[in-house]
Amino acid sequence: MDRFDVTIIGGGPVGLFGAALASLHGMKTKLIESLPLLGGQLYTLYPEKYVYDVAGFPKILAKDLAEQLIDQALRYHPTVCTNQTVENLEMLDDGAYRVHTSSEVHETRTIIITSGLGSFIPRKLPPPSAERYIDRGIYYFVPAMSHFQGQRVVVVGGGDSALDWALAIAEAASQVTLVHRRGDFRGQQETVRQLQEHPRVSIRTFSECIDFQGSTRLESVVLVDHRDKTTHVLVADAVVAALGFLPDLGALKNWGLDLEGSSITVDGPMRTNRPGIYAAGDVVAYEGKEKLIATGFGEIGNALGHIRGYLDPKKRGGLPHSSNIKIESP
Ligand code: NAP
Repeated sequence: MDRFDVTIIGGGPVGLFGAALASLHGMKTKLIESLPLLGGQLYTLYPEKYVYDVAGFPKILAKDLAEQLIDQALRYHPTVCTNQTVENLEMLDDGAYRVHTSSEVHETRTIIITSGLGSFIPRKLPPPSAERYIDRGIYYFVPAMSHFQGQRVVVVGGGDSALDWALAIAEAASQVTLVHRRGDFRGQQETVRQLQEHPRVSIRTFSECIDFQGSTRLESVVLVDHRDKTTHVLVADAVVAALGFLPDLGALKNWGLDLEGSSITVDGPMRTNRPGIYAAGDVVAYEGKEKLIATGFGEIGNALGHIRGYLDPKKRGGLPHSSNIKIESP
């Protein structure tokens, strides 16, 4: 089996930059991502949003930043495996690891976990009756827009997901009601404005779903208005719940790593408690941790500087400046 120096788990911005840095510095590098696409949240959650806090880019669309990071990572030819979810970890007699994924086994001397928020587990609607109608009228993962053709749809939430879905579904549905528990929206004000002006959208703020009703499929939703405590029954064919996502480490929970909630505890060089396993980016916990792309980039640099010496004790002392490296490919 081909053995790699570094295997990076998670193809978001920090994992991509790690793949670029590791392969630039001559480490035999592999990147494993569970989704079919690289880019992490930049692509999956907010591709059309501007990011203003990445060094060197005063303002850049998230999807453009993802593309630049992918371009930078692939330039030095790491091995990239998408569509593979990591499962079991096996430590070999010489201290290297075998990482078993949903479709392959990989061998590596070191691992860096950059899985960000991890698997995207949707936050659930609180009323117990919601469970009965999952995929029979209640959706946490939105089906094709044609599914909502002519339907009366309730979209729940006040973040960008809820606002974007409400606007998109309104193109197919006969009526969309956006239900949000507060008066202010977290999502972009421009989208709120578009929804307010849309002829088939009505917005109910300060309101929450307290019950779901129907015989075999969802037929209606009971709402409470927190301002006057009145309840209202809305006839509805579908509810799209966009309440955000909960961080989840998935199978990494069983790797014997020290955890703080759903984050992995690391030290200065980003080492976990297991030898040769490091972590960086939103998945880590240490005192003063800031969950920013900028800090993730620094953390993966620290991890790789340490890994270089771990792989070859003659190379202790961190990563050399890239301006001193002779790059063969452009
Ligand atoms: P989010 O920003 O966390 O919003 C979740 C929404 O659900 C909040 O409005 C929250 O209400 C509400 N909520 C949570 N629990 C609830 C409950 N039990 N009952 C009723 N309401 C509840 O999640 P998101 O919209 O999925 O966005 C996640 C991230 O991706 C954000 O950073 C977002 O900006 C980004 N994103 C961007 C785009 C884009 O740029 N177009 C698209 C999608 C997502 P409160 O506001 O009261 O807490």
